[in-house]
This record gives sequence, structure tokens and C-alpha cells, in this order.
Amino acid sequence: MLVVMRVGATPKEIKTTVSAIRRMGLKPNVIPGALRVAIGITGNRGAIARERLEVLPGVAELVPVTKPYKLVSRETKPEDTVVTVGGRHSAVGSRPSKRPSSRKPKAESPKPAVFGANGFAVIAGPCAVESLKGALVVAKAVKAAGACAFRGGAYKPRTSPYSFQGLGRKGLDILRAVREETGLPVVTEAVDPESLEQVARHADMIQIGARNMQNYSLLRLAGQSRRPVLLKRGFSATFEEFLMAAEYILSEGNYQVVLCERGVRTFADYTRSTMDISLVPAVRKISHLPIIADPSHAAGRRDMVPALSRAALAAGAHGLILEVHPEPDRALSDGAQSLTLEGFAELMGSLRRIAAAMGAGPMPNDEG
Ligand code: PEP
Ligand code: MN
Repeated sequence: MLVVMRVGATPKEIKTTVSAIRRMGLKPNVIPGALRVAIGITGNRGAIARERLEVLPGVAELVPVTKPYKLVSRETKPEDTVVTVGGRHSAVGSRPSKRPSSRKPKAESPKPAVFGANGFAVIAGPCAVESLKGALVVAKAVKAAGACAFRGGAYKPRTSPYSFQGLGRKGLDILRAVREETGLPVVTEAVDPESLEQVARHADMIQIGARNMQNYSLLRLAGQSRRPVLLKRGFSATFEEFLMAAEYILSEGNYQVVLCERGVRTFADYTRSTMDISLVPAVRKISHLPIIADPSHAAGRRDMVPALSRAALAAGAHGLILEVHPEPDRALSDGAQSLTLEGFAELMGSLRRIAAAMGAGPMPNDEG
């Protein structure tokens, strides 16, 4: 059930309604809107006594939410959610860090990455953080080409226990140094409660990977953190399972969630996964959350990444996350799908032309 407050309802009226919902043993989830506030009610097993809420001052109407997912649904919040990553929002992680190198940082003022507005936001970087030097080379190149955030795994969930598992805490120090030197917000994956705590402290956005999309205790912890979350779709997650995973995060009070289609398992075996492009318009229709695509993990091969990237933009995605490496053949993970620095810059040029033809907003780093 959704309680829609009147336009101009006072803070006191909202507070009274919230208290009334709590007294009924239910959970109020306040959702500020452009025009008016709505309060999503969760936690009920049976029907809700509407008559107790309808009569409260400031309440406009009660709307039943028919979908199993409540807070992620447009029924609850009709207007698009805009997720802002980094910039002044990154108070904890942007403290001066112990730099893992003695070179003097050339600090750049941090600029937030924005997902969900009319623009198209591109996150780019290596699959895994390998060294400070390498990370900086990629970060500077992708920034110059128009990326608005840097990616790089410090904690890597690898299929084989013998593969490179990431630099862990040292990787996070490198990411902080990259942010300090380039001003780009940094996105990195958390794989368990310990790494989530570290990632939330040091990075600007917490990535929950495909393998953990249904790790409900981890989703709850991400929801309790105040960092924006990038939630990737599980290999075989249905549309409903994906949105329900996001619902876990929102139900803990964190509405800053960006969804990511990264390919699903199908019988098509010429790519690593199959990018389910139809998920993009489906999410845009049903949910207010931004949706981006990850053509790198979907394709698993560099040569197909540009075409899938352009398809995602044309289908209405709010952005991309792309793997880029200066020497893909020497990458410690996912080299086969990583674009070269030149390949990335070239792709950004073609995306820019498509965005202009579509009348989409500028890519973030075009604004100067
Ligand atoms: C990654 O982003 O490097 C990654 C492991 O992605 P996924 O969880 O989609 O496999
Ligand atoms: Mn990868």
C-alpha cells in the first residue's frame, strides 16, 4: 500500500502519518517526490486498515501496490530516481589517504557521476586494480574520453580459487589515490560483509556482483550503508528476482541504487553471456531506478563490446560500465573482453554521435 500525501503536506502531517503506520505494526518508507511525498507501507501480511490512514490530515489517497516489488516500482514512485555518485557526497572516502606511492598527488576537484537523468553516464576501468601506475594510466585516459567514474575490482569473486583474487585493502588505497588525482568517483565490488564495510568506507559506490545478487544478507547490509549501490543482475535471475534483490536494498532505506544488465546464461555460446537488451525498456517501464548495461561481461570478447554498447544506449540505458586495460593481453583478469585505451576513446565518439541523434543529454565529461 502507498500513502500519497497532498501537495504541500506539512512535515508535521507527514510525521503523524509515519507514526500512525508504525503504531499499526507496519514499516513506513518515506519517498520524497518532485511534487509530493509518498509513504510506502511494507511489512503487512494481510489487508491494511485503510480507514485509519485515510482520515489523517495531509493524506491525499491510498493506492494499492499490485506488484510483489513495492519500493522499486513506479507505482510507488512515478518519477525517475537520479543517483549521484561521488563529489561532495563522498565525505568518508575523500579524506587525504596514505598514498601507496611517494609521488605528489595532483589533486583534481571531485565531480559527481549522475545516473538516471537525461544524460548517459559511463563507468570505465580495468576488471581488477593491478597497480597504482596502471590504474592511473587507465583513469586519465577514460576521463579524457568522457567517462564519469572509474571502476576496478579490489575484491574479485573469481570462478577459480587459483585465479587472481584482487589486491584487497591495498586495491582500495589505489582507488582512493585515483580519485584524488583524477577527481573521478570510484566504483568497486564488495563480496562479503567485511569487504562491504571497507568498500563503503573508501569507495564512492558499492558494486554487488552477479554472483551475489541473491545474497540477501549482503543486500541488506548494502541497504544500511549510505553509499550508492550498483546492483548487477544474476546470471539466471528473472526480471522479478532482479527487482526483488533491489527491493532488499531499498527496504533498508537506501534508495540510491543503479541496476545493471550484464548478460544472462542462454544456449548462445559464441558470447560469454547473452545481453538481455529487452531488460532495459522493461526496467524503465516498471521501475524508477536507473538501469545501465555491462557489455564487457555480457560479450566476454572485445570485438563485440562496441556494438552492444551502442545497442544499450539506443535501447534507453542510462549508462554503461566497461572494462578497459592499457594492455589487455597482460591483464590479470578479463583481458579478452577489455577494450584498449584507443578502442574506448573510439567507442565514446560513436556513442556521443548516437546520443546527439537521440536528443539525449550530454555525456558527463562533455560539460567541461
Ligand atoms: C566485474 O564487474 O568485474 C564482475 C565480476 O562482474 P559480474 O558480477 O557481472 O560478473
Ligand atoms: Mn571483470
